[in-house]
Amino acid sequence: MKKDDLDCFLLETSAFGELWGPNKKDGKFLYSKLEDRSELYLGNEIPMIPPKKLFQPPTFDMFHFSEKESSPNYDWIKNRVLFGIHPCDIHGLLILDKFFSQSPADPYWTKSREKTIIVGYSCIPCESCLCKSTNTDIVHEGFDLFFTDLEDYYLVWVGSSVGDDMTRVKQGIFDEKVEKEDIKKYFEWRKQRDSCFVKDFDFKNLPDMMELSYSSKVWDGFGDKCLSCGQCTMVCPTCNCYDAWDQIDLSVEFKGSRVRRWDSCMFGDYSLVAGGQNFRGKRPDRLKLWYTHKLRAYEAEAGKPGRPGCVGCGRCIRTCPVDINVQTVSEALFTGEVPK
Ligand code: SF4
Ligand code: SF4
Repeated sequence: MKKDDLDCFLLETSAFGELWGPNKKDGKFLYSKLEDRSELYLGNEIPMIPPKKLFQPPTFDMFHFSEKESSPNYDWIKNRVLFGIHPCDIHGLLILDKFFSQSPADPYWTKSREKTIIVGYSCIPCESCLCKSTNTDIVHEGFDLFFTDLEDYYLVWVGSSVGDDMTRVKQGIFDEKVEKEDIKKYFEWRKQRDSCFVKDFDFKNLPDMMELSYSSKVWDGFGDKCLSCGQCTMVCPTCNCYDAWDQIDLSVEFKGSRVRRWDSCMFGDYSLVAGGQNFRGKRPDRLKLWYTHKLRAYEAEAGKPGRPGCVGCGRCIRTCPVDINVQTVSEALFTGEVPK
């Protein structure tokens, strides 16, 4: 597809749902609904809050109830076209799909995923990207369409029948012929992209290292630095913890809502249970839990060596105020030293 045809294509996508995508507005960089097509940002940066928020909003009412009945709240789930998501974030959604589809499947996640068309977008890595090391730099599934930027045109991959329908909404936009020159250009782009990765880390040995380092002093060292702010979990595209409670209105009659809100295993009260017992009251224990999930447990469950529960987006590297992230922790486990 010629780049000049992008705006026309975006206009046609309105037949499929609201257009959402990364945009920089009012000093913020977010995935949000686009009021105007020109707001779409297609580039190498990614918003700090990953697209998981579209399918599990930070806070929402799961259902409303009264003394006699309850009804689920799906009002917030709309037909959407999410345009411009990078391979790491698509992999993040695929990991969460597996998690939320375990029996009993989460209806909110499932319904909102079904109603959202994913249009991926290629990127050139920035210095904090680790996705080559986590084998998540390329995607072959999890999108309806995927746009690769080849200078004056996009090479558009079709990943589903809906994606195929989208390429047919307007005659003449998509040229189905793939010439030798196009193939050459694509693989040159791949080579050039690969050369831009500055971080290279071997995640294959980490599950064993995690297992052997359970009593390592490294956890105490990182625990001393950690602020328990939970930012790492909020920005991580594969974190999924939430809390739920009832908001009850007793003023007129018995009625209320079950509210769901993101939670973080880094928060001090996360493992607080009735009776005042807190089985992860110490920061080193909470850090160990988080990294065990990312670097060991997910890989063992999925049975994919070299594919941790981290998709290498680099957000924890850019976010943590005291430099605790998937890279510093992994390196410290091998050296036995916590960086100052
Ligand atoms: S590791 Fe960093 S971002 Fe995460 S809770 Fe601790 S201080 Fe906050
Ligand atoms: S652990 Fe860090 S780099 Fe890995 S997916 Fe989560 S935020 Fe991204």
